[in-house]
Amino acid sequence: MPDILKTFRFRLFLSYLALSAVVLGVAFFLVYQRIERAEISALRAKLSDEAALVSAQLRSSDLSSPGINALAHSLGSKVRSRLTIIDADGWVLADSELDGAAVKAMENHSGRPEVVGALEGAASYDLRHSATLGKVMLYAAYPVISGGRVGAVARLAVPAAQLESARAMLKKALLAALTLALLLSFFLSLTVSAGLARPFDKIVYGSKKFAAGDFSYRIQKDFHGEMGKLAETLNSMSAAVEENLRRVETQAQQLAAAFANMAEGVLVTDMSARVTALNPSVERIFSIKAGDAITRPLLEVIPNAGLSGICARALSGGKPASEEMELTTPVRGVFSVNAVPIFEGGAVSGCLMVVHDITEVRRLEAKRRDFVANVSHELKTPLTAIRGYVETLMGGAIDDKEHAMEFLGVILQQSRRLDNIISDLLKLSSLESYALEVKKEELGLKDLADSLIAGLASIFKAKNAAVYNTIPAGLVVRADPEKLGQVFINLLDNAVKFSTENAKVEVSVQELPGSVKVVVKDSGIGIPQEHLAWVFERFYRVDKARSREMGGTGLGLSIVKHVVELHGGLVGVESAEGRGSTFWFTLPK
Ligand code: ADP
Repeated sequence: MPDILKTFRFRLFLSYLALSAVVLGVAFFLVYQRIERAEISALRAKLSDEAALVSAQLRSSDLSSPGINALAHSLGSKVRSRLTIIDADGWVLADSELDGAAVKAMENHSGRPEVVGALEGAASYDLRHSATLGKVMLYAAYPVISGGRVGAVARLAVPAAQLESARAMLKKALLAALTLALLLSFFLSLTVSAGLARPFDKIVYGSKKFAAGDFSYRIQKDFHGEMGKLAETLNSMSAAVEENLRRVETQAQQLAAAFANMAEGVLVTDMSARVTALNPSVERIFSIKAGDAITRPLLEVIPNAGLSGICARALSGGKPASEEMELTTPVRGVFSVNAVPIFEGGAVSGCLMVVHDITEVRRLEAKRRDFVANVSHELKTPLTAIRGYVETLMGGAIDDKEHAMEFLGVILQQSRRLDNIISDLLKLSSLESYALEVKKEELGLKDLADSLIAGLASIFKAKNAAVYNTIPAGLVVRADPEKLGQVFINLLDNAVKFSTENAKVEVSVQELPGSVKVVVKDSGIGIPQEHLAWVFERFYRVDKARSREMGGTGLGLSIVKHVVELHGGLVGVESAEGRGSTFWFTLPK
């Protein structure tokens, strides 16, 4: 069926047309029936007198005589109708419009409706179309009673001329009415369907938009009724879908952002342990690219049997598996690995692995343990010495005045050492505490260095050391004077401490883009290459005995490093054994 025939408009048109055709048909049929009845009664009235005349004539005639046909002709012309005389058996005896031979050839008329009635003794009529004449004729049949019974039938036939013309008129009118109905139906269906089709088209258009995923579209609702309600429902449905989509999208974005930005490495595999997704942290930890990894087996992507094993356990056991493992391939480090199975429809469909790099955590823990051990050790040494000497004194040495004084001197020295260690530790811990604030102010760097050098004069003098300060007079930096002073003191103290007699120490600055580099250079014993990387660590000393002898705690450079870093600067050292050391630090301008 062509599409147009299926349209709403066409169906509407068809139903209008059918309705008008039925109504017109019924109306015309009723009209026609009325006209027919009127015509029959008019003709009947006209014919009844003539029929009486003909009957009387026939009653007194010999119907079987050969002159009967001539009689029929004369009677027929008298009554200006066609007269047919039919015997009791239905055979035509005479006809006013036919000759004898033709009459004989006529068929039996006993079956004609009007003849049937007349043979039964009543005047009967029939209106029908005559095939021979091509006209509608009214046939009126009258019984010719002789001897108390129907001896023959006289039938008169007149054309139902008015009926004929009425019929023709009605035909034309019907045709015209039908054409009008056709046109009317067409325009009516067009206007009505336009009224209905416009909202309908809008709803169809909107539905197509929704189906294509455009849920921001709204059907423009300038119509009411059922269509209006439908459009309203569709609009609110799409609004709900849009809202849900937006929520899902936001959640997905949040999840994606979390996935992309979390510090832990997240990796997803399918049930055959092939990688389906991984986040940037995994890329960073294992130096791989997501593009190369997706769809490849986990063991190929991260060639480590232990790691793949955890995933395999989660996949086969359907239960979470976790382990802390120290990897050497493909990367070095300590990792906490958690693998959980992903379920889909009750069956394991994959594995989600979370890899947490805890190398630094473990390193710091180890460092803290070392620190505690170091502190304990550092404190224990002077304490053991003090206790030893006290015990010796108590054991009687107190009476030996000379030795007793010597022992007390050692006790004093060791307790000073304890004091130094503890005050350095306190400084360090206060520097490390997060709450610490650096009170920065503008400082003339040369003046600060000069005053500190003056304060250390006795130490320099003891070693006959020459100290040069070449910092330009106008140089101003922003720093915490007390803490920066500590940096200078520690560096200058070390420079003299690790030098022989007649040492030469120089304090200078270099201006760098964005920062000032302060350099403390000495001509001392220097530091062997292999120790350079460690001298800023707590308690690290190249020569423990020498440091201790000098009253060092091994914490001086750690304090320097901390203070400089708190100011946003860097520290460093260049040195070679026996050829002096150059310590430097920077301060941002
Ligand atoms: P200490 O209390 O022993 O001086 P520091 O933290 O200040 O501790 O220094 C750590 C170690 O670095 C020192 O024990 C020493 O071996 C080395 N060191 C520091 N400064 C110098 C220097 N100017 N010359 C040579 N060695 C140095």
